[in-house]
Amino acid sequence: MAIVVEARKMTLAERLYLPAVIKGMLLTLAHLFKKKVTMQYPEVQKILPPGYRGAHRLNKDEQDRIKCVACEMCAVACPADCITIEGMETEWSDREKIPRTFQIDMLRCIFCGMCVEACPEDAIDMTDNIELVATTREEMIWDRERLLKNFDETRDQQGTLGQVLRKSRKPFTRPRGDQLPGPPSPGGSGGH
Ligand code: SF4
Ligand code: SF4
Repeated sequence: MAIVVEARKMTLAERLYLPAVIKGMLLTLAHLFKKKVTMQYPEVQKILPPGYRGAHRLNKDEQDRIKCVACEMCAVACPADCITIEGMETEWSDREKIPRTFQIDMLRCIFCGMCVEACPEDAIDMTDNIELVATTREEMIWDRERLLKNFDETRDQQGTLGQVLRKSRKPFTRPRGDQLPGPPSPGGSGGH
């Protein structure tokens, strides 16, 4: 059933717009006397908060090898559908797969950080690098080597998104077999 909504009648002051204009001008005037926040970028770099979602990187392990196991969970979680991964088998004893190719289309990325949240291996991360400049579209398709190079360049950075998320996560402990709920008893309701 349709609902009729009465339009609110504007007061005389609202129809004149003058009070709103004066209010806006007073706000502007107040800002004139506030501490200035203009930064002389790029000479002065802004200090970004921990967990800032800037340029991506692919992390490396203690042996300087790519951490990614090509599980594609980041690609599945990505709402912009901008991650493409092709896995390949590896001879390494500690994992079965690594990415043969790993691409992020940075022109489609919305910097939401969901890829970092979804990664079970702490293999993809976001840094505070905000200078994403390119002259062609192709340059904005970041491949595996570019993402690994970003890791080398930001290796010492503290407070990446991945590090912040890891700190806030509760440790996950897999329940032992004897802690798992047993099968429903015959004659039981079977429900919860
Ligand atoms: S930050 Fe978001 S949009 Fe960008 S690659 Fe990660 S999941 Fe996709
Ligand atoms: S970056 Fe993480 S989530 Fe993405 S494929 Fe590699 S291991 Fe899986």
